[in-house]
Amino acid sequence: MTETKKPVVLIVIDGLTPSMLEAADTPSLRFLLEHGSYRRATSTFPSLTPVCLASIATGGHPDVHGIPHLVWWHSGEERLVEYGSSFGALLASGLAQGLRDSVVNLNERHLLRSAETVYEALEGAGLTTAVINFTTYRGRHRHLSLVPGFPPVHGPKRFFFYSLYESDRTGAPLAWRNRALGSIDAYAASIGRWLVTRGGFDLLVFYLPDYDYASHALGPDVAHEALARSDSSITALFDAAGGPDEFLERHAVIVCSDHGQTHVEQAARLAVDGARVTASNRAAMLYGDDPRALAAALDREPSVDLALFLEDGEIVARRAGDEDSALLDEYPDGRARAEAALRNPNAGEVLLSAAPGWEFADLAGRHHAGGGSHGSLAATDSEVPMLTIGLGEPPSSITGVKALVLEHFGVAAVLAGQ
Ligand SMILES: [Zn+2]
Repeated sequence: MTETKKPVVLIVIDGLTPSMLEAADTPSLRFLLEHGSYRRATSTFPSLTPVCLASIATGGHPDVHGIPHLVWWHSGEERLVEYGSSFGALLASGLAQGLRDSVVNLNERHLLRSAETVYEALEGAGLTTAVINFTTYRGRHRHLSLVPGFPPVHGPKRFFFYSLYESDRTGAPLAWRNRALGSIDAYAASIGRWLVTRGGFDLLVFYLPDYDYASHALGPDVAHEALARSDSSITALFDAAGGPDEFLERHAVIVCSDHGQTHVEQAARLAVDGARVTASNRAAMLYGDDPRALAAALDREPSVDLALFLEDGEIVARRAGDEDSALLDEYPDGRARAEAALRNPNAGEVLLSAAPGWEFADLAGRHHAGGGSHGSLAATDSEVPMLTIGLGEPPSSITGVKALVLEHFGVAAVLAGQ
């Protein structure tokens, strides 16, 4: 059905801004930039990791995949779902329900069945996919956990997830030994080296989250040490192939991030009468009966840039009491992203995009004031680097990655969100 096509390695560096990649002087990223086609592309909204990774994996915005935010109200189960401000932070906190939601339920229950992941599409066509640490992993193979208490999950054939699930024994060190020193990316590098050496995949999703972790603490475009570590994780893949040139002879490559990063100075703790508020980083949602009244209640709130809701099926964008959907044209792909976010059945009735310099404190009151954050419609949160090598032109949105990969292999998307 397909002639032999080069396997694809999709490298996702969490939170990497376009400017940081464009200026990178680290050897492996520089080498890839010099051999590929590059552009700036757009993320989804809210520009938060669980939402973005679901968009990369399914090729759709939240109306297609159903993942609305880092934290949301599950009306069917009448409870909050909290994926953790970052996955590493969640692992470190060891909260049982949060872990179960972000590791298991996100894929097994929250990700809409009507969406198709790139792994489901490729493996349905007889190809093999491999995923390391990418939080949207739903696939056709059942995997038992290495850690007691975690139920079996369905992932791609080759599946390695933070030392919790490992389809093959690779000798990789434990993923969460020391997050601040980049142990998660080191785990990915170790498994990536093992996989590239054996060539056992058509698609490898190589996800490096440690850069975002550093960037939240330090702010955007200054986490050079963390980027150097991401770079050395990529070097590990090159080494396994016998060098960078040999690596590109054997593989097609995509390098991108999931969202950008914005400097934040202040944090607001939102509360609105009559609404359930779920907030984190630079996006928030209000669940309640009267969206117009809820949005109006925040007209004087300095942390809110835009309040968005649907009225008679039409999108309303409100800023400090003024309503004009043309406000959305100030943002990259603003109208389409805002609408898709609102048309997600799991989203709140009102979505809030944060003002410059502001962040919304999360349930525990935590924030990154003085550092970096993301989640809003603003360009700094929403622009991502997009680099392709040995594939077609880079897509203009993270939702185009799946189609690019399927096209490479001559596989048709069969479900929504292509
Ligand atoms: Zn982040």
